[in-house]
Amino acid sequence: MRPSETQQKPVNSDSITSILKRIIAENGRDHVWGYAGAISCLVIVALSTAFTAWIMKSIINEAFANRRADLVGIICLSIFAAFVMRGFASYGQAVILSKIGNNIVARYQQRTYSHLMKLSLGFYNQARSAHIVAQVNQNISGVRDVMNLTVTSTVRDMLTFISLLAVMVVQDPLLSLAVFITAPPLLYALRYISKRLRAATKEAIHVNTHVVGAMQETIQGIAIVKAFTMEGELERKVNKLIGTAESRANRIARLSERTAPLTESFAGFAVASVLAYAAYRSIYNNVPPGAFFSFVTALLLAYDPARRLARLQVQMERAAVNARMLYELLDMQPHQRDLPDAKALVVTEARIEFRDVTFAYGEDNVLNGVTFVAEGGKTTALVGPSGAGKSTIITLVPRFFDPKSGDILIDGQDIAHVTKQSLREQLAYVSQQPYLFEGSIRDNIRYGRPEATDAECEEAARLAYAHDFILAQPQGYDTPVGENGVTLSGGQRQRLSIARALVRNAPILLLDEATSALDTESEAAVQKALDEAMVGRTVVVIAHRLSTVVRADKIVVMQQGRVIEEGNHETLAKRPDGLYARLNNLQRPAASDAY
Ligand code: ADP
Repeated sequence: MRPSETQQKPVNSDSITSILKRIIAENGRDHVWGYAGAISCLVIVALSTAFTAWIMKSIINEAFANRRADLVGIICLSIFAAFVMRGFASYGQAVILSKIGNNIVARYQQRTYSHLMKLSLGFYNQARSAHIVAQVNQNISGVRDVMNLTVTSTVRDMLTFISLLAVMVVQDPLLSLAVFITAPPLLYALRYISKRLRAATKEAIHVNTHVVGAMQETIQGIAIVKAFTMEGELERKVNKLIGTAESRANRIARLSERTAPLTESFAGFAVASVLAYAAYRSIYNNVPPGAFFSFVTALLLAYDPARRLARLQVQMERAAVNARMLYELLDMQPHQRDLPDAKALVVTEARIEFRDVTFAYGEDNVLNGVTFVAEGGKTTALVGPSGAGKSTIITLVPRFFDPKSGDILIDGQDIAHVTKQSLREQLAYVSQQPYLFEGSIRDNIRYGRPEATDAECEEAARLAYAHDFILAQPQGYDTPVGENGVTLSGGQRQRLSIARALVRNAPILLLDEATSALDTESEAAVQKALDEAMVGRTVVVIAHRLSTVVRADKIVVMQQGRVIEEGNHETLAKRPDGLYARLNNLQRPAASDAY
């Protein structure tokens, strides 16, 4: 059985409720106490608001109608107390919810980062790195917003609204009924707007992702942009995207703000009619005004939470779209997982064997029945024209991809049946383009083996002929490199990446020799560093230098995904019409960049 293929759950059909359920399930438990605190504060806010409306009846009737001076003090003090409590409770809930929100963002960032590292190279082959980063940035806040909106809206606004409705009904049932009858058409209109907003939001996120992605790609490839004078063309393209993003954002603003004229007009109509009715009733029927004022206060106070509740769905839609896109990424299954019975790889000689391996990135086979052995402790050079499949062979050994058929064995153990961790621990890899990460030079060497001591890092740097130039840097081994660090030459970067492989001290070394021309001095240093790195290891090298090929214990000649010749330099060079002999004769004068 082959390790599992790509699996991706269809998530587009998820409704807000199921997204909400999932977000609560993933985050609710860890913040139970925080939410309990925030909810208590919100209950206080809601009840104190309702109390302010309710007490209006007493103040109007007792102070203005009955002229009870003794009660005024108590009533006003209680109003003051209610406001103070509301203030503190508002403060409390805001601080608690922000803290929880920040924590949710942090946790999702960690989770997404760790997930991104588990996804196979197949995923990165298809997705554009800049787009992934832009998407993650935009979408994590969606999860936080869903949580906070749920708590603030359901508890504060809903509770405030319900308690104010209760005050209204108690104080004036007939007027309340009138208000309730007019509300449904309003709700219907708001629903319609929210539906259109959902589509617009998804579109806007998509366009924004493209804008950020395009900018990032330009920055990464700036040398190419300038060399090919692509500035004008790219600017036109990105400007067009920016224009689309702007108009989408405007459309969203128009749609979401369209709720304001609707709700405001409704509120104005309601307040005016209620006032008219009450005034007539007071004038003609002599009804005491206390209950009416209490009712109006409740109605006015209910307006804010009602407006927020009305917009809740709109905001939830927006946040849920973000959250859903984040989950689409998080739900992507890593392409290959270890088999359930996978064992740790045990390396004795470090002999690598390809047995009839066939592989395809997509439809067409890139490797066709490749069979060869890289003997333990020896150097095997892969040569052949560009596109023959040499790099693909190198990527199959660490299981960046799995073959379609055939087996790859290390010391007789099928690598599909061992854990990826144990497999990769036995490998060191030096790529054509050395990559340096954010951090010091020492950190970059130590990525080879995190537990390596400073002395071991320096020893590796010495062997890689990097020690001297490292000491010449402003802060020696502590000099920062990577995006924000010092600039090193191509040869220096290569020697650092060789030092990284040396400190790993793995029995197998996969090497993609650099084709880019270095100056003679650098070239010699890199060559010496590589010679050190190869000693006593099983080396599979994509060879571009004649010296590497000539000294290799075995040469595997590839063409169009097949092994067509095998042997060492002497035997292969003698075959009159062999591909190797032809390449060798053709390229001999150029010597260094022959293969
Ligand atoms: P070589 O290293 O000998 O130049 P490669 O192994 O890089 O050859 O490529 C072999 C074939 O596989 C080529 O046709 C190339 O276009 C294709 N190929 C290489 N890498 C990928 C990839 N990541 N996705 C799809 N096709 C690829």
